[in-house]
Amino acid sequence: MAGRNHLFIPGPTNSPHEDLRAMHVPMEDHRSPDFPKLFKPILQDLKKIFRTETGQAFVFPATGTAGWEIALTNTLNPGDKVLIYRFGQFSHLWMNMAQRLGLDVEMHEVDWGKGIPLEHLENRLTEDNKHEIKAVLATHNETATGVTSDIGGVRKAMDSANHPALLFVDGVSSIASIEFLMDDWGIDGAISGSQKGFMLPAGAAILAFSQKALKATETATFPRCFLDLKDQMAQNKNGYTPYTPSTPMLHGLRKALDLLLEEGMENVYARHFRLAEGTRRAIAAWGLKLCAQPGFESNTVSAIVVPEDKDARDVISTAYNKYNISLGAGLTELAGKVFRIGHIGDMNDVSMLGAIAGVEMALLDNGFDIKPGSGVASAIEYYRSTAE
Ligand code: PLP
Repeated sequence: MAGRNHLFIPGPTNSPHEDLRAMHVPMEDHRSPDFPKLFKPILQDLKKIFRTETGQAFVFPATGTAGWEIALTNTLNPGDKVLIYRFGQFSHLWMNMAQRLGLDVEMHEVDWGKGIPLEHLENRLTEDNKHEIKAVLATHNETATGVTSDIGGVRKAMDSANHPALLFVDGVSSIASIEFLMDDWGIDGAISGSQKGFMLPAGAAILAFSQKALKATETATFPRCFLDLKDQMAQNKNGYTPYTPSTPMLHGLRKALDLLLEEGMENVYARHFRLAEGTRRAIAAWGLKLCAQPGFESNTVSAIVVPEDKDARDVISTAYNKYNISLGAGLTELAGKVFRIGHIGDMNDVSMLGAIAGVEMALLDNGFDIKPGSGVASAIEYYRSTAE
């Protein structure tokens, strides 16, 4: 098919040409005296994305999944109790990892479509007056359901309960796109990956840890080797890495940081809100509903529920095979029930309108009872009236 495939999945996201060009470099000597000139400023500038002054940033040659493991194994001991709410495939997988690592996992089920229940959290932590819970694992943006939880609220609940647990936040599909305030929200471990808000290929786990979490690494007894923060810290302080880094990835990251910081984080958040809101207007005009309940809508991904007599997989398949656009599928419990539109990364009004028009065609082809042009018209009105 002529023309390019249009990527509207919630990661990997579209990479700006500048990032792609920045990664197109000859291989280089990562033990040279010049390497720290590239790497040290990256670690410094990452803190501006995580919004931390007191924390420390890390880049591992891995993915977001490793980020979960880095947080757990570097700060906790086998058998420690951790608290997690399960409300989508990614919070499920993190819970599953904690169980497989031998942590004592206290899991609470939440409807898929809602996020972390703050009142429940506060009550549970207040009840835990012996402070048996060592860490709260919070999925900020549940990519499977398009649900964003209130992490500032999580911090308030922890403070109100006067609870000393570590707070680990999965920001894989929120960091560098949805407001994320590591210091203000008292986050101890923030986990991200290169292929979402950072607009790069998958292959870098990008993290930041508070001083409290770094202190915990000194006593944590989980066996660890490749993912040991201490090895990273020992090398990072001189601008090096404990093993061979992906230098093209680091050049891409340098450029991505420049682009994000030049745009300004507040503007990055506002752009993602606008792109998401236009998409939500289109979804409403089609008469369809989000999986996310009101108040939990994500600005990086919309999971759209199809009526019971339809299969969302047909929409995704028509979109891909007939119109050459990629949409996100419903995962596990949501397979066939939702399709997802990613509005994260290097996107603008017109790229979103491409997604909305393509989805609209695929919905019509699959017999959805919608008015041709209705979603596009709503989104156009919103984008026109809010464009600067
Ligand atoms: N957490 C969330 C919220 C995600 O969306 C993903 C991947 O999509 C992951 C974790 C896992 O990250 P990775 O696939 O980079 O290992």
